[in-house]
Amino acid sequence: MNLHEYQGKKILASFGVAVQNGIVANNIDEAVSAAEKLTADTGTSWHVIKAQIHAGGRGKGGGVKLAKSLDEVKSISGQIIGMQLITPQTPPEGKKVNKVLIAEDVYYPGDSEPKEFYVSVLLNRSTGNNMIMYSTEGGMDIEAVAEKTPELIFTEEIDPAHGFQSFQARNVAFNLGLSGVAFKGMVKFITALYDAYVGADASLFEINPVLKTSDEKIIAVDAKVTLDDNALFRHKEYAELRDLSEENPTEVEAREVGLNYVALDGNVGCMVNGAGLAMATMDLIKQSGGSPANFLDVGGTADAARVETAFRLILKDPNVAAILVNIFGGIVRCDRVAQGIVDAYKNMGDAIKVPIIVRLQGTNADIAKKLIDDSGLNVLSAIAFEEAAQKVQEALLLSS
Ligand code: GDP
Ligand code: MN
Repeated sequence: MNLHEYQGKKILASFGVAVQNGIVANNIDEAVSAAEKLTADTGTSWHVIKAQIHAGGRGKGGGVKLAKSLDEVKSISGQIIGMQLITPQTPPEGKKVNKVLIAEDVYYPGDSEPKEFYVSVLLNRSTGNNMIMYSTEGGMDIEAVAEKTPELIFTEEIDPAHGFQSFQARNVAFNLGLSGVAFKGMVKFITALYDAYVGADASLFEINPVLKTSDEKIIAVDAKVTLDDNALFRHKEYAELRDLSEENPTEVEAREVGLNYVALDGNVGCMVNGAGLAMATMDLIKQSGGSPANFLDVGGTADAARVETAFRLILKDPNVAAILVNIFGGIVRCDRVAQGIVDAYKNMGDAIKVPIIVRLQGTNADIAKKLIDDSGLNVLSAIAFEEAAQKVQEALLLSS
């Protein structure tokens, strides 16, 4: 689950990570009172107004602006709230901004030496270890740094048997070229950050930039936080941070009915049982000249109600030109699934306008094929994988 910057910063702060102070606002009035409160609390009279959307690169797109007075807080938040913000990470049409974070300006006026670092915590999937990745080149595109000056990116891998070691925190501060108060500040920052990563069951923290102010403070200015969905049951208080307006509506609906659905941009809808078979099916679709419109794992019980729900979800995508159902009948018998498909199809009347190719393999596959063939519906059956691929290809040719 992805979070907004303001939500991520709250979680970081709750673990003792130093973050730039800020208050979220839904409209101009709230923005102004947030700025007044920050001035009272911190003494700052300058504020940054930051668009809250699930995408980075906001600065480049005009979604992060400095306000030097309350009048500017008013006018800038008026510009940003409601705008369609386009950044290198949004879809081409951008994303609508519903909230702004009003934050204290931590790049002090006249500060000649703010230093921006890059710090992330993530799982290194090839070693299976958590890893801290960091660089002196913060504030910019880390991909560009990785390409042009990979020697400026450092990593610390955390051995799960030992946990995060204090020498690793000192490595970070040292490699970032810090000394004195800022060195100690970075050690404290990194230690708290790693604690937060583990404690919150996060799968990604990306803090870009981490700022060293001219008075040697180390603080998180930005925060991209992704939490592990599979651990949310342990964090009821985080589950409500989900912003449904940032997510694909069909994925949201699928999650509500307990189906594993991921939207993709192809033309062949797939309904499969088991994640591994779903991946293989997507490869099969590619090989037969199509491209998968989704990943959908219907799980073990493919009864009529579930199959119908899955059909309806898949058909919400207007790009779907054919549907491939690929079910292995191991625990569930193929004839039961076939009956489920026939019942769902009949029940949906004329809602299904695209050809459906059904491949059922496993227990009672023959009976299942016969059931489909005798149903008189626009459903093509197959038992072999290749035969199914062939039929998908034919269906796409006919529909194009
Ligand atoms: P992103 O563009 O979505 O990554 O948003 P960031 O939170 O990283 O902000 C973008 C840039 O805005 C930062 O790299 C800073 O240069 C600038 N910025 C952020 N906070 C402040 C601030 O408090 N004062 C000033 N003057 N600039 C800031
Ligand atoms: Mn950033």
